[in-house]
Amino acid sequence: MEYAFQNTEDVLKLTKKHRIPVSQVAICYEAEFSNMKVSAIRNKMKKRRDVMYAAVKRGIATSERSKMGMVGGDAHKLYQRIKHMKGMMASKVTLRAMAYALAANEQNACMSRIVAFPTAGGSGVLPGVLFSASEHMHSAKRKLLNGLFCAAAVGLIIAEGATLSAAEGGCQAEVGAAVAMAAAGLTEMRGGMPEQCFDAAAIALKSYLGLVCDPLGGLVEVPCTKRNGIGAAAAIAASDMAIAGIKSYIPFDEVVWAMKNIGQSMSSKLKETALGGLAMTPTGQKIKQKLIDGYKKSNGCESCGHHVSHKRRFS
Ligand code: SF4
Repeated sequence: MEYAFQNTEDVLKLTKKHRIPVSQVAICYEAEFSNMKVSAIRNKMKKRRDVMYAAVKRGIATSERSKMGMVGGDAHKLYQRIKHMKGMMASKVTLRAMAYALAANEQNACMSRIVAFPTAGGSGVLPGVLFSASEHMHSAKRKLLNGLFCAAAVGLIIAEGATLSAAEGGCQAEVGAAVAMAAAGLTEMRGGMPEQCFDAAAIALKSYLGLVCDPLGGLVEVPCTKRNGIGAAAAIAASDMAIAGIKSYIPFDEVVWAMKNIGQSMSSKLKETALGGLAMTPTGQKIKQKLIDGYKKSNGCESCGHHVSHKRRFS
């Protein structure tokens, strides 16, 4: 395959050889890999973009809370504040990216339709950053689509070199990966060179190395949603650095290698099991107890909480 790639070096070679941006390498790779026309690949991405956009719009318009009541309504709150900016310090584009990121991720917590790009836990960062930037730049829809494809290339490199699974690598592999992808995608949208896209991704991912996965009650709600909001701001900051000419001292592929290594050294208590970190705080424990009580009440055996089918078997 002409456009196959596994790491940054491969992608950069292809961008130079064919004089194309990172996004185009991703599109050609996908077309080759799935044996589809480029136009069909673009159309598939357009559909995903529209689903993401709908999730963002629903999220900023509602104060609906998740079933456990832990998240919901914060995107709406922040988005309202952007209208007058009273007391805010970040720029409008950054605040809007944060609000959009919260929105998409709150929609995930409320069991609404989202795109797991790259995962459900990190699903807010990309739409947050790229939609807000697109509005800010009044850019054509094509530019936004290219940003998504560039981000996808970065996601694939992380998946090949490390992981996109929190059960394997902690939250650095979910929100961290999403921030790196968004930083690169945004940099391409702004006219950055392929090298700058990977500098932005490296700067972003380095700042997320070691981030543990510690969701309260094992639900993708807390700290996930707000991590998406903050992640959107971090992606914009990393892209700004790269656009200003700042390079990552460690190349992106080596950052990915470090991420894999850190994930392997991480205790399983900090990898999606809800047995460490924030999940073990008194607040986290209260949520866990609430879940167990609710489960026993609605489905389970009074004594052990096992499903009702277990009760039937032994009664
Ligand atoms: S804390 Fe865990 S569940 Fe939540 S976003 Fe991060 S990786 Fe996903």
